Amino acid sequence: MTDAGEEMYELVERLYPLCRSITGDGVRATLEIVDEYVPLRVHEVPTGTRVLDWTVPQEWNIRDAYIADAAGNRVVDFAASNLHVLGYSVPVAATMPLDELRGHLHTLPEHPSWVPYRTSYYQPEWGFCLAQETLDAMPDGEYEVRIDSTLADGHLTYAEHVVPGQVADEVIVSCHVCHPSLANDNVAGIAVATFLARALAERTPWYTYRFLFAPGTIGAITWLARNADRVNGASPALGAPPGRRPGEEPRAGGRVRHGLVLACAGDPGQLTYKQSRRGDAEIDRVMRHVLLASDRPHRVAEFTPYGYDERQFCSPGFDLGVGSLSRTPYAGYPEYHTSADDLAFVSPEALADTLAVCREAFSVLDRNRRYVNLSPYGEPQLGRRGLYESLGGRSDAKQAQMAMLWVLSLSDGEHSLLDVAQRSGLPFDTVATAADALHGAGLIKA
Ligand code: ZN
Repeated sequence: MTDAGEEMYELVERLYPLCRSITGDGVRATLEIVDEYVPLRVHEVPTGTRVLDWTVPQEWNIRDAYIADAAGNRVVDFAASNLHVLGYSVPVAATMPLDELRGHLHTLPEHPSWVPYRTSYYQPEWGFCLAQETLDAMPDGEYEVRIDSTLADGHLTYAEHVVPGQVADEVIVSCHVCHPSLANDNVAGIAVATFLARALAERTPWYTYRFLFAPGTIGAITWLARNADRVNGASPALGAPPGRRPGEEPRAGGRVRHGLVLACAGDPGQLTYKQSRRGDAEIDRVMRHVLLASDRPHRVAEFTPYGYDERQFCSPGFDLGVGSLSRTPYAGYPEYHTSADDLAFVSPEALADTLAVCREAFSVLDRNRRYVNLSPYGEPQLGRRGLYESLGGRSDAKQAQMAMLWVLSLSDGEHSLLDVAQRSGLPFDTVATAADALHGAGLIKA
């Protein structure tokens, strides 16, 4: 995992400098780099496309921007940090006194050396973000302001990567790709998602895992608009299909069964799992169980209709079982949406820890099934079927035997293996291994 942490950190370093926004070449450049790690299918959706209640906006691109003093010195320079420009700024080329310029300047007086991150996606505006101490050092006088940006009909760009599973039922893992040079809020999530996809592909998972790399809000809404059939198949009202039995062909047309939004994945804080709107979705139970069983300090938060793209996936029309995993959550740290969310704020260890929890959780999700005991009248004779011998020499033989008894006892078609693990207090892996042995002996069926 340490190696993975270092590799994820290298990816963070590569992605960090790019000027991303909800549209434009920064997103494309980001996806091109991610594509070196996992092959991506990139989608380009034209400006003006109606997506649910929204419309794909004009595409924004920027080449240069600065504020220069009377001597021509750039006192604020986009080339030094892309945070200096209000995201989605319309172009401007003007000279004006500082007093007039002030209305377009954004600072953080409480952190005078930090540059804030600000955007104005849906209101045509221009502006600069700078350190309060930079502003304080600017004498009155005339300043040249220039933003060499373009707002024009183009496309919204997002990408998908699919790890095929044994069944067509899907788990979606999404992260946002729309923030410029912010390491934790944006790039860390992209890195963990990328390496999670690689890890899942090491062996064919049970579920099909669909990774979404999309701009926040409008990107998730665009994906939902274009995948409503896939998503609504998961609606409890329509009846979710049962899992495929081993040997059966995957069904055509996947159905989203579960999902996880990754964000703020690399800071030093403890892990936070924000539950889906449903609160009792299988992903909620799995994440709670895995975090508790891992003995990590962590927090489980209730759903709120704010934050990241769980807002869209959990909206009542879709009502997906999608939670969100972060370390320190959205807006929960002073560095959030500032230049202090930089490469020093994230670490290989934290990235590796987030990845490890995701892998543990999906390993539980993938193996969590309901079984029916095919020999439910009295205890079946385990010794006759070689099930005791199979435990021989195992240091946890007693625990493994208890796990078999628990699985047999609770396999009434109602209880899942996660229910068995929680009720018995046994590790999920022990329970799932016992279920595999019982299944192999023909004592239970999925
Ligand atoms: Zn953000």
